[in-house]
Amino acid sequence: ESAPRQHDVPRLPPDISRAEFNQAIGEVKEILGSENVAINDRPLVDGWYIEHPNTHDAYHVALQEDLVSSAVVYPGNVEEVQSIVRWANKHLIPIYPISMGRNIGYGGTAPRVPGSVVIDLGKRMNRILNIDAENASCLLEPGVSYFALYEEIQRRQLPLWIDTPDVGGGSVLGNAIDRGVGYTPYGDHFANHCGLEIVLPSGELLRTGMGALPGKEGDDNPTWQSFQPAYGPYSDGIFSQSNYGIVVRMGMWLMPETSHQSYLITFPRDEDFPDIVEVIRPLAQQRVLGNIPQLRHVIQELATTARPKSDFYAGKDPVPRSVIHEHAATLPVGDVSWVFYGTQYGDPAGITAQLEIIRTAFSKIAGAKMLLPDDLPPEHYLHSRVSVCSGVPILRELDWLNWVPNAAHLFFSPIVPTRGRDARIVHEIVVRLHAKYGFDLLPTLCVAGREMHYIVNIVYDRASVDEKRRAAALMREMIAETAAEGYGEYRTHILFADMVASTYSWGSNALMRFNETIKDALDPNGILAPGRNGIWPRRFRGKGWEI
Ligand code: ADP
Repeated sequence: ESAPRQHDVPRLPPDISRAEFNQAIGEVKEILGSENVAINDRPLVDGWYIEHPNTHDAYHVALQEDLVSSAVVYPGNVEEVQSIVRWANKHLIPIYPISMGRNIGYGGTAPRVPGSVVIDLGKRMNRILNIDAENASCLLEPGVSYFALYEEIQRRQLPLWIDTPDVGGGSVLGNAIDRGVGYTPYGDHFANHCGLEIVLPSGELLRTGMGALPGKEGDDNPTWQSFQPAYGPYSDGIFSQSNYGIVVRMGMWLMPETSHQSYLITFPRDEDFPDIVEVIRPLAQQRVLGNIPQLRHVIQELATTARPKSDFYAGKDPVPRSVIHEHAATLPVGDVSWVFYGTQYGDPAGITAQLEIIRTAFSKIAGAKMLLPDDLPPEHYLHSRVSVCSGVPILRELDWLNWVPNAAHLFFSPIVPTRGRDARIVHEIVVRLHAKYGFDLLPTLCVAGREMHYIVNIVYDRASVDEKRRAAALMREMIAETAAEGYGEYRTHILFADMVASTYSWGSNALMRFNETIKDALDPNGILAPGRNGIWPRRFRGKGWEI
């Protein structure tokens, strides 16, 4: 789908005249070379995951034209990033840094403020600066994808794993600072980063952690990728999910390779769900479970065949339960309701013992059945989980974008205690509101010992204005209803950032006032990613930007 602009002029940054914009663009071309500055004045093309645009949100929820940049710039090194930041301060032009922009379902490459200048860091700053095999760590620029890091480790024949999210084309750095997750024991990406280098909104350069201590004779500090907090306040956290700085380098820990065994466990009845959660909790707290496992509804067995919904059901409304079960019966897992995907790690004898503990624990639920990859045909989804859960990046997870025509998706992802009764409260809200707005419910629960990410994937047709309107309304109502019960999202699409931020309101919005204090101190001109994660600089606050 592509749509021409109404006129072939870029959307201007707020409060900037056409003449001022042209003047400023001329200056940034001087800094970067005109080949590294692109005005966004062509028709918008959504492309697909690999050939994704950096002009707008390809998975638009609002109009395709709404979340657009005025221009995209491509710095080639840290000094150029600093120069762009000083340029933005001079002209009061909002800038919006992205690493690779494969942040699909959360806004992609789109800036929150239309007409911002997107800084596409990944195109030219894509070096693996170091892989330290002894320390099992690496130091990366923003443009290093999971695929690129994986391939380099294979090329060097190092016995190390990376941790990849469901789809492997994104930036290792970008995903970690947006607090994305993966599925090996190193799945909490931000928790496994070590050391940052950041361009602040003033243009100054900062190293966090041990990197703040200069190494011998101008070298990087030898423990920059070894010890996270260093001395004094642990500042890294405020650079994740924020708009306080542009991260230009990040250290990441790598996992020593090990044996592994993926498995799935099926459960026959829909209503077993809270009991399954109760069985998972102690296994996760005792760290018997090797990774953050996923619990999925059987409708996902249909969606992960890569076949469209219309193959299973002719209606436009949600697939009825009876139809889901009828088709599940013909699939390898059979007519079940919930499917648990887990992986165990370590030496083979240990894995065998762990699988026995897990099998016994789940046998409390009538009809639970464990299957190993060898029990399933080669095209079954479990085989792709074997890859992801052992650090091999793949694209298979994009398959469910075949579910509806022109598919885009939005994630609703509240944090819920790992407890049957809380799981039931959230599940009932989500089931009821999906029925109200006419969407299939595609839930995946990433279950840890104390909380679970209850992730709902709303898949909608981008060509349908009505579906987009319903998807957005469904999001807003789920955010409001679950917040009223005390549950909040861990991450959200840029269009819902204000709303999600506003749910974290304890103490008369004490947290947002604190965030704003930091924002105003670091970015007095309000140039860096205004509105990201609901944090608006003073210049924008209370002027109708919040939605
Ligand atoms: P990926 O390609 O890994 O999915 P993105 O580049 O889309 O990641 O990054 C996700 C979000 O995180 C971006 O929309 C942006 O707001 C923020 N972000 C990404 N990279 C940086 C960076 N280097 N510095 C500051 N913010 C960033």
